[in-house]
Amino acid sequence: MRFHWLLLTILSTLLFALPAQAGRLLFWRYENNQNRLIFTTDSRVQPRAQLIPNPTRIVLDLPGITLGRSTVDQNIGGNIRSVRVGQFNAQTTRLVIELAPGYTVDPTQVKVRGLSPTQWTVELPDPQPISSSPPRSNPRPNRPNRPTPPPQRPLTPPRSSSQENNNFQVTRNGLFIRLNKQGQNRDILVEDREEEDAKTIQFTLPGASFPQSLIDQTLAVNEYGVSDIKFEQPQPSQGRLTLRVAKDSPGWQAYYSRLGGLVLLPQGGLSRVENLTAPEPSGEVTVSPVKNQNPTISTIELSNDNSQLLIRADRPIRGEGSIDRLTGNFEIRIPQAQLADPIQGPQLGRNSPIYQLKVRQENTDTVVIQVRPSLGVRLGGLRQPNAQTLSLAVRSLQRPGTRPTPPITTQPDGPIDIIVDPPKPGEIPPPPPKGRVLVVIDPGHGGKDPGAVGLGGLREVDVILPISLEVSQILQQQGVQVIMTRQADYFVSLQGRTRLANDRRADLFVSIHANAVGGGRSNVNGMETFYTGNRELAQAIHRSILRNVTVANDRGVKRSRFYVLRTSRMPAALVEVGFVTGSIDNARLRNPAYRSQMARAIALGILDYIRQKGL
Ligand code: ZN
Repeated sequence: MRFHWLLLTILSTLLFALPAQAGRLLFWRYENNQNRLIFTTDSRVQPRAQLIPNPTRIVLDLPGITLGRSTVDQNIGGNIRSVRVGQFNAQTTRLVIELAPGYTVDPTQVKVRGLSPTQWTVELPDPQPISSSPPRSNPRPNRPNRPTPPPQRPLTPPRSSSQENNNFQVTRNGLFIRLNKQGQNRDILVEDREEEDAKTIQFTLPGASFPQSLIDQTLAVNEYGVSDIKFEQPQPSQGRLTLRVAKDSPGWQAYYSRLGGLVLLPQGGLSRVENLTAPEPSGEVTVSPVKNQNPTISTIELSNDNSQLLIRADRPIRGEGSIDRLTGNFEIRIPQAQLADPIQGPQLGRNSPIYQLKVRQENTDTVVIQVRPSLGVRLGGLRQPNAQTLSLAVRSLQRPGTRPTPPITTQPDGPIDIIVDPPKPGEIPPPPPKGRVLVVIDPGHGGKDPGAVGLGGLREVDVILPISLEVSQILQQQGVQVIMTRQADYFVSLQGRTRLANDRRADLFVSIHANAVGGGRSNVNGMETFYTGNRELAQAIHRSILRNVTVANDRGVKRSRFYVLRTSRMPAALVEVGFVTGSIDNARLRNPAYRSQMARAIALGILDYIRQKGL
């Protein structure tokens, strides 16, 4: 038996660390109208490409590149079914372009080209229907004379647990347990115990209490090498969880989530447990202890005339809709609901009025549906034709054109290598989409002014300069022009900072700081973003941080009249990345991997804003 305290530094490493030398995939986008995938990495990469039949997929492996987040699956529509980006193994990120069933492309016409060692494009010819001539183990109806409609595609919901217990879920990232009361991350005690043919991992959770329906239950998991999970409440304010895992399972870690629960993750990531076989259950497993009471959303479909998107559930639901005026995207939130597994999604063809649909179980009780309209389509209000159905009005402002019948192509029998064109030496990366956006990155303080000084003497300047340098580097890799108000530890006056931005007529100004609070209040942690005039830039950055970094606390987007914000003449934001005086933030801000994650999130937020505004 061995004991160890779960330290936040270990947790930070688990959540944020990337292999030391590995590069990262910074950005990718599939441009449907160009049949083209573009992607950017932060270090040089030599991709490998293959065409794999049945169904036809173009598979690109990026050795030495890590994704640093879970798999992304983007529905495309038309002859391209989806683009997936995932971690293939510890050192390789895999991009997959999957064609609609019945379609293929000539692999010699697929062009994988390096524009620079870090920027690549994959151009596809127009996909062609497959002829039925070569023998195939998996015959499909052959429709040579008209384009095959894209398949009825199940959207990917979070995996539900083998039981219908709403308070415990097997998710795509690990295990989630709803709690009535949370404790402190630093108090969680983890204890591993070896048994004959299995291992148990016990988490003692001072301050935490489980929902009544979980207490004294053992639930079957049978995923990620976990056979079952047991919930006990030895004291009202102390919870205990026991996982029975495979003998060769790595350790598991627990931390409290902002969703009001506990998240359990395997050490070293899901790839280490994905193929482990769970040990035999301990024999006392409850098979279906609690019936979930939430209505289930089973179908999302377009009405026959494409004028409405219909969301159907098995029992009455209600939803709230909101439109993002900037992008035209519509978001529907449905409380007290869950997704069927699998959920029946609509056909999103090339001429579909809906370009993309994202459906997710945001937490155990809320389903969120994001609808992105195709060009020339407007999404209207959310209505309730009956208690079990929500409808979203879809208005096409143009008539879809008809596509010519493509010639017939045969399908290869096995994988075929696709030739990869390396970048030509000295080739200049393509110009950024439009103009050349100029962003001023302002690492606060410097020189005689170290900014805030926190626990263990951690200085604000030493935290924010590396973050700022990395933000600048990422923006530059994306073709954005960057000026920093300082690039090393020297003093610049506040006036000097905004004068620089105003004189150079910068498009955006982003100041980066770390926070502090007096009185030894180490319990104050979290990040916040400030603006003075328009809040959009601050909001884009803030949103990206929440999406890409697990922060100790979301302190929100706030208005403030900081000098640098009110005197800069362009959209400006000031990010406080965390408290050097906070016990949680301090440990994280010392961690270069965490700072890197923060930098990447800030840069992506700025890029989001640039794209939204078409700068
Ligand atoms: Zn500061």
